Amino acid sequence: MDEEIAVEVSGLEVGYGWGRNATRVLHGITMEVATGRTVGVVGESGSGKSTLAKALVGLVRPTAGSVRIGGVHVSSARGADRRAMRRKVQMIPQDPYSSLDPRRTIGEALAEALDPRRANVKKHADEIVHWLETVRMPADTIGRHPHECSGGQRQRVAIARGLMIRPEVVIADEITSALDVSVQAEILNLLAKLRRELNLTMVFISHNLAVVRQVSDEVVVLYRGDIVEQGPAADLYQRPQHDYTRTLLDSVPGAPGFDIQPRHRKDAA
Ligand code: ADP
Ligand code: MG
Repeated sequence: MDEEIAVEVSGLEVGYGWGRNATRVLHGITMEVATGRTVGVVGESGSGKSTLAKALVGLVRPTAGSVRIGGVHVSSARGADRRAMRRKVQMIPQDPYSSLDPRRTIGEALAEALDPRRANVKKHADEIVHWLETVRMPADTIGRHPHECSGGQRQRVAIARGLMIRPEVVIADEITSALDVSVQAEILNLLAKLRRELNLTMVFISHNLAVVRQVSDEVVVLYRGDIVEQGPAADLYQRPQHDYTRTLLDSVPGAPGFDIQPRHRKDAA
């Protein structure tokens, strides 16, 4: 079966600084994400996960290799291509407390995502309410301010904002790390449902392998800027091949409570 490749990362190297201060963070990452699939990226703090996320959205420039989204090179896109690229790839922010403007209503924040130049809540009300419902938020959230919402509710809004312009690829970098464990589980369950309902193509990043497994078809294990293992999420979790993957498994206290089964079990049934 021919799968359409949405994200193609090839020999990606990224570093920071110049001259004597130069450091290389990613040492030749090669991976791909097929349309409608979620690839999880897991690794301890400092392994280069956020650098990879930034390279995927074009916020850092590769020193070698390439990132292509829908066949277009991310880093060389200019002008209209670059604007189009911004809509193709959406990053869901990590911290729901700083990602929403406290002076604006949730409706205004979402209207702005739809139409940055004139965020018109009335004009887009139906669509905004639809997306609030999609992330299981009440319709009257449209008139609320961020401080009237909990951290988990804000993260739902951030997810709606990332998804509502219908990006080709969603990048989620530690989107539950700032939340309490019980709220993390809610958000992960929501995301697991949305990725099926909306057939999302996603790169889901976390330092927690148990969390990554819950929402990923395949998992890439990053260790000091190199991929040490990759494969179907269930295999990796049950039969880790690399010592580092085993270390990651040992270091997680377990997944926060989930109410869905991993995909492989459903497929096997
Ligand atoms: P992770 O998200 O897995 O914790 P990062 O990609 O944030 O990893 O960081 C990987 C390495 O790159 C770390 O050693 C970090 O200190 C370094 N690093 C990240 N961002 C910068 C930067 N802007 N300038 C210099 N070094 C950076
Ligand atoms: Mg990070």
